[in-house]
Amino acid sequence: MKEIIIATHNSHKVEEIKPLLEPLFKVVSLRDLGFDSNIPETGLTLKENARQKARCIWDKYGKDCFADDTGLMVEALDGAPGVYSARFAGEGCSFEDNINLLLEKMKGKSNRKAYFATVICLIQNGKEMFFEGRCEGTILEEKKGMEGFGYDPVFLPEGSKESFAQMSMEAKNRISHRGIATSKLVEYLLNR
Ligand code: IMP
Repeated sequence: MKEIIIATHNSHKVEEIKPLLEPLFKVVSLRDLGFDSNIPETGLTLKENARQKARCIWDKYGKDCFADDTGLMVEALDGAPGVYSARFAGEGCSFEDNINLLLEKMKGKSNRKAYFATVICLIQNGKEMFFEGRCEGTILEEKKGMEGFGYDPVFLPEGSKESFAQMSMEAKNRISHRGIATSKLVEYLLNR
């Protein structure tokens, strides 16, 4: 079975993506490789960051790999936290810190529209391909649910009564930004 490296230190992402690719590939995580250095993420767009992360691993191992970058874009905050979603509340902050800051900034705002966007950069034999996914929704007034990670407890996907953090991983994967981008990746890999 072919191997593919998933270039992330986020174990939640590995858990979400692994089952989607496993029928096709042996998915190797950075932990499996013993790679624990920081992966630079200094781009100004999700695409630049996804590319930078995948390149970092390709340059080191020379093996097929992919990386994703995700951001939460909130309309009333002019698209923030966007590409800075991981460090919205400052360098080294927790998911909890980010959510608290977001809820603070959204206090009293009636426009609560937001979307998650994911860009995946796949590098196969040195060649780059990009896959995108988006999930529209709204920012809740307070946290709901315990599943998932990041901003999941305050994100209500369009057409759903449950926040991402109230859904099972399978239900989230079916409609999420990363689920959609990953399906495109899987479809591409299947048809090669
Ligand atoms: P990353 O740079 O792709 O790891 O994502 C940046 C940040 O966006 C993460 O640290 C999380 O706070 C948030 N994020 C990414 N994906 C999700 C998701 O599926 N649900 C909630 N938050 C997410």
